[in-house]
Order: sequence, then structure tokens, then C-alpha cells
Amino acid sequence: MSENKEIHEYQAEMQKVLDILVHSLYTEREIFLRELISNASDALSKIQFTTLTNPNILDKDVPLEVKVSFNEEEKTISIEDSGIGMNKEDIIGNIGKIASSGTLKFIKSLDQKEKVDNLIGQFGVGFYSVFMVAKKVVLETRSFDLEGQGWEWSSEGTGKYELQPIEKTSRGTKITVYLKEDAEDFCAEYRLETIIKKYSDYVPFPVILKDKTVNQVKALWTLSKSETTKEDYEKFYKQLTHDYKAPFHYQHLSIDAPIQYFSLLFLPEEIGNEVLYARESTGISLYAQRIFIQNENKNLLPSYFRFVRGVVDSEDLPLNVSRENIQHNALLEKIKKSLVSRLLKEFQNISETDVEKYQQIWKKYGIFLKEGVSSDFPNRQKLLELLRFNSSTLDDADQVTSLKDVVSRMREEQKEIYYAIGPSREAILHNPNLEYFKENGLEVLYLYEHVDDFLMMDLREYDGKPLKSISQADIDIDDKKEDSKEALPKAESKTVIGYIKEQLGDKVADVVESKRLVGSPCTLMNAKDGMSSHMEKMMKAVNKDFEISKRTLEINTSHVMIKNMADLLKKDKNSPFLKDYVEQLFNNALLVEGLLDNPLELLPRMYRFMEDASKFHLDQP
Ligand code: ADP
Repeated sequence: MSENKEIHEYQAEMQKVLDILVHSLYTEREIFLRELISNASDALSKIQFTTLTNPNILDKDVPLEVKVSFNEEEKTISIEDSGIGMNKEDIIGNIGKIASSGTLKFIKSLDQKEKVDNLIGQFGVGFYSVFMVAKKVVLETRSFDLEGQGWEWSSEGTGKYELQPIEKTSRGTKITVYLKEDAEDFCAEYRLETIIKKYSDYVPFPVILKDKTVNQVKALWTLSKSETTKEDYEKFYKQLTHDYKAPFHYQHLSIDAPIQYFSLLFLPEEIGNEVLYARESTGISLYAQRIFIQNENKNLLPSYFRFVRGVVDSEDLPLNVSRENIQHNALLEKIKKSLVSRLLKEFQNISETDVEKYQQIWKKYGIFLKEGVSSDFPNRQKLLELLRFNSSTLDDADQVTSLKDVVSRMREEQKEIYYAIGPSREAILHNPNLEYFKENGLEVLYLYEHVDDFLMMDLREYDGKPLKSISQADIDIDDKKEDSKEALPKAESKTVIGYIKEQLGDKVADVVESKRLVGSPCTLMNAKDGMSSHMEKMMKAVNKDFEISKRTLEINTSHVMIKNMADLLKKDKNSPFLKDYVEQLFNNALLVEGLLDNPLELLPRMYRFMEDASKFHLDQP
């Protein structure tokens, strides 16, 4: 044993991650090779980039490539690269630890096996997937530093690893995998070649197996569209993102003016919450003149396009652009503008030529486009045309319509576009405020998402037509119900309303006669510029002390329950029954709006009503 050999114990957490990885998470063990080749390729990209600015580099002129070899007798596979290499600190920091402290928690939370292969690489445990097939791994490496030296790291994937200095003259990393008995079948040329082609075909450096380059090497994005097939794009996408599903849609761009660039953009089939809640767009890898510059670039797409993945490569970008000042590069700003406009155009095209596909796009990415409306002012109009909503003119909650179509259906005298916000179509259909619109055949948009409140407040109008919530008090409603025969006479209405007002006191802003109700006795209305109930509930969820604003209670004086009230008042205006009656009406209206804090309060009153009703039925002959 060498004197210099150091033995390191893993952090407890690391050991757990390893156990889970090796014993329970694997589905496709072959992905270990993808991970090791991907690390080798990253190391090659790093040295390529470093060489641009740093002249003092070991093995400056050696070819940049990955060599995969195997030894059938020893049952070993090695993956060797001429990449950036690692010094002692790098090994301890990169290989000896898990990248992020949340990894264990995250991995434990995974129960769908199919997702795991896809995620291993994203959580800084890619290297360790090798222990799915290895009983022992030896990593020999030397960094690009002229003064540096070689190091050997080895581990059996149990609780510790060994580290010792070695003689190594060439730059880069060689990983030797000692296969477990049940994984010895990986030690075959055909098997290895198939796996490399399957997962690493678009690695930008040659992957060499038995003196033969197995992968494509060339950059797919520089080829003309006629040279490439759908399969090529899909394979490339999977290699780029480690997504196991094919992309929902892709766009291949080759632009010459005002700036030259190539781009491959992909819309994933599924979007995880990490993307939904992310703040920035990090789906694009940046290349300059085919040389990899940066993963997860944050400056090429606005935040609302954070679901888009892909690559951008420009001939016009200087190679010596450093990762630090890339942010302030004016060329990138131009590319960003162009990318956004191409994406919006693509969406617009799909919406015009393939309505069904666009409906799916809307379902998957609509929430991001809504965000765009509020954040991308220069492109607002284009984004508005891409919005889709469910509506009262559609048969079910799955169908959608555009604002343009809504306007085309508006009645001539109609000046406003109406909408209702609620948790579901069902809930909205129960809203008494909808009755007037139904009765009069006026279209109402149905909105179901949290962001819709903000979107509507932000939009305010479309095509000169104000957007109005059906729960807003100042809707332009014609007064034809004023002299409806069924309504209570004026004087009696006044008495009933006066009584209700007196009973409810400062629980309401006001009590007024309704012009919009048809089948319900009463409803609550928002103030003209007030927040919607939906929004107030959200505010209350984050701040318990938030005060829900007072509503105006509108009374349907044609409704039999209100008419009966007028008679009951004449009979005995001090009856406790009437007090209960008003309280219940008000609580029912709160319930509809989702504003009733404690539904249990309803119970004692309900029991009193049931008692009365049962007596009434017993008295019947
Ligand atoms: P990830 O690649 O997701 O960061 P890995 O566990 O695969 O996670 O690798 C951890 C780190 O180890 C890498 O980020 C890199 O810094 C280093 N590394 C792994 N393989 C190599 C290699 N062949 N050459 C240089 N560095 C490497």
C-alpha cells in the first residue's frame, strides 16, 4: 500500500444515495455509459473553452476525444478522455460529494421508476450510476495544469473511497469499471456500440471504440432540414435533455439576418414543477462557431419561455467571450429577440393550421403564455392572439376559444367581454351572477387558473372592448327587469331591502335590488374596482390578517323567497324566524363565493328550519 494513500469516508447522506441508486432505482443499467461519456464530453468542452484564453495548458495539441475500450478477460470497461482533468481538490469536491444537499430527499421522493433514468444526470449523481454495474471503479486523472500531477481515485461504492497520487503524464481522465458478475454482458463490442449510438450519438466529440468513431460528431443544427429526419431531432433532443419522451414539437432555425445563428428549439411533452416555478429560462445551451460555451444560458429566452429547450450556435459570437460577460453581449440580445419572434410566429402558425395541436400546446404551455402577456410588452399583441379560454358557448371544460372569436360572436349592442373566475366549470355554473348572461344569451369566458385574476386585471381590454367580471357591480345591464310583473311592488321591495340591511348591518357594503338574477334569491357583488373573491382568497391564504372587503348584496325581488319575506314582514316583523332567514340568505351567498369561513355555523340554523318544516308537514292533512 502506498504511503500516500488516503482513505475517505463518505458523508452518511452520500452512502444512502448510493444505496438507493444501486439497489432500487435502476431500470436501465446501460445509462451508466451515457453518464460517463457525457461527463467526458463536458470535460472536453471545458478544456476547449479554457484553451481559447489560457496558453499554459498541458497537452495543448492532443485531439479532443473519448475512447471507450473493454477487456473481456478482466471484465472491465474503460472510458478515457483528453478533457480538462481534475486535481485533488476537484476530485474531493466533485466526485467525493453530492452536488446538492437536497439530492437525497429528492431521490427518496421518487417512486416512478421511469423518471429516474431521466433525472439521474440532472442531480449531480450521474457518475455514481456506474455502481449499478461496477463492483469497483478506478479513476485516474490529471488536470490541464502544467505544474499538476496525476491522481487515482478508487472505490467499491461501499462506504469509502481511496485517493493517491500516481504517475500520469497525459491530460484528462480515465475511468475503469470492474463489472459485477451480473453485468459482464456489457463487455462486448456490439453491446457497447449500440448503447453509444443510442444515447451519445450527438456528443460533439468523437467517441471511439476499437479505433472506430461510433457517433455522428457533427452538429445537427448546422445541417439543412432536408438532410435530417424527425428521428434525428428526437434522438438529439433526448441526448440533450435526458428526457425519455420525444419532444412534443421542434423548430429548426437557420437565420442569416440581422445576425447569423443556428438553433434547434424543442417543446417538451411534459413540464415539471421545477420549470413552472423557476424564475429564469435555462433551457438553452450556447455554442459559438460550434464550440460549446455554456449550458443553461439565462439570456437567450425570456422567463416565460422557460419551458423551451434547445441549442443556439452563432458564427458571429466571438470565441473569447467569457462566461462572465456573456450577459452583456449585444449580439445575444439580438438573438434573443429573434428567437422570441420565431417562437411566437411558430405558435401562431400552428394555431392557424392545426387547431387540435394548438389546443394541446395551450394545455401544456398556456400558463407560460399568460405570463408573457404581462411581462413582454413589445410582443403583447402577438401573445394576446395566442390566448385561449373556455367559455359558455363551448360544450365542455376542455374546449377553448380565442379572444378574436369571442369578439366576432359579440352582439352588436354588446360593448364588453364578460368573464367568470372559479375553481371549475361546475363551480362557475353554480354562480347566480351567471343567470342574467345565460338568460340573455351573452357569452361568458370561464377562467380556472390562479393567474387568470392577474391576467384579467392586467389586460383590462381586448380590441377596445373592456373585460368585465360577471361579479363586478358596474356591468352595463339593461333595466328591462325594472317593471317586470312578477317583481314585488316598489314599496314592498323597499321594506324588504330595508329590513335586510338593518339585520346585516356592517357585514355588507350595501343591499340593493338586483337586475341580473333570475333563479336565485340573492347574490354578492364586488365593488367596481375591487378584487375578485378568488384573488381575496389567495391574499388571505398568504396573510391570515387580510380583510376580505365588504360586498354588496343584491336581492332578486321576483323570487318567491323574497316575496314571501314581504308577507312575513307584514305579519310580524319581530319574528326570530325572519332573522334566521336573512342570516341564511347571506351565508348562502357567501358560500357560493367561497367566502364562508366556518360552514358549521350553518348547522344550528338549518336544524331550526328543519324543525319548522317538519311541523309544517305534520300539520298538513
Ligand atoms: P454532474 O455531471 O451532473 O455534475 P457527476 O456525478 O456525473 O455529476 O459528476 C460530478 C462532477 O465530477 C462533474 O460535474 C465534474 O466536475 C466531475 N467529473 C466527472 N467526470 C469527469 C471527467 N471525465 N473529467 C473531469 N471532471 C469530471
